[in-house]
Amino acid sequence: MEINIKNVSMTYPNGKQALKDLTLDLSAPSLIGLLGPNGAGKSTLMKLFVSALLPTSGTICVDGRPLDKSERALKSQLGYLPQDFGLFDELTVTQFLDYMAVLKGLRYPKTAVREVIKAVNLTEKRKSRIRALSGGQRQRVGIAQALLGDPQLLIFDEPTVGLDPEERIHFRNLFSQTAQKRLVLLSTHIIEDVQSVCDRLIVIDRGMILFTGTPAQLIRSASGHVGVFLEHNAAQEHGLHITARVNTGNGVRCRVVADKLPDYVTPEEPTLEDAYLYLLSKEVRQ
Ligand code: ADP
Repeated sequence: MEINIKNVSMTYPNGKQALKDLTLDLSAPSLIGLLGPNGAGKSTLMKLFVSALLPTSGTICVDGRPLDKSERALKSQLGYLPQDFGLFDELTVTQFLDYMAVLKGLRYPKTAVREVIKAVNLTEKRKSRIRALSGGQRQRVGIAQALLGDPQLLIFDEPTVGLDPEERIHFRNLFSQTAQKRLVLLSTHIIEDVQSVCDRLIVIDRGMILFTGTPAQLIRSASGHVGVFLEHNAAQEHGLHITARVNTGNGVRCRVVADKLPDYVTPEEPTLEDAYLYLLSKEVRQ
């Protein structure tokens, strides 16, 4: 599967331009992290992929065919977990997924439901009512419905919001397994979600693409722009973007990103988070 986005812009009816002239090429298999601060345009972009919104201008092609002409064919290949996914609290996990399988028109719904319940590790909870599940278990049900029918394109919008660290790790592993043969798009503003599993990152802010490439490339782009200093010797911290402060016996140890590091800053190897923050801080200064 290949998706080509060309010069796509999206303006909401109230005049808010959420995406500005985006051009992107995505192809399977890949686990792509879509990163950006709140309000960057991530959800809008995902809604365009699933045809929940139409772009104001530009084209989206799936395997060479315009999305608006192949929408039906694509729907059968699509699994989508929106940010505000509603579950029916009074149904059991199996009942809910049976219902979703019917909506998706699956030929063997019972087998499909059994398989996705197993994939998200909810077999023991399959007869529990959804209202009795924890936040993480509910998210798993959301992910299970996206996996129904073995779609080739999976889109998860902020899937790990509200989960504890252990649940996050479960999900990351699941996404990574799922992406071995498919195209998986994972939108998040949490760096750790993409750090260990995504082979490609797209960073957007204010509706524009700031970066596309591998996590290693993003890290390299911040090399020489990250360092630490003790706050007491830096009355001149002007112009630095401080990304972390840690109290130590000798003062406050600050981690900074900057175009040019002053002499009193000791350079450090960038992490993915440093590189992401450096990229965003450059954007703010422009
Ligand atoms: P993200 O998912 O990165 O947080 P969104 O795509 O939800 O960002 O939003 C991008 C921008 O578009 C924001 O400024 C948001 O306020 C605006 N926006 C989102 N949905 C609507 C809407 N239905 N009507 C008007 N503006 C919207």
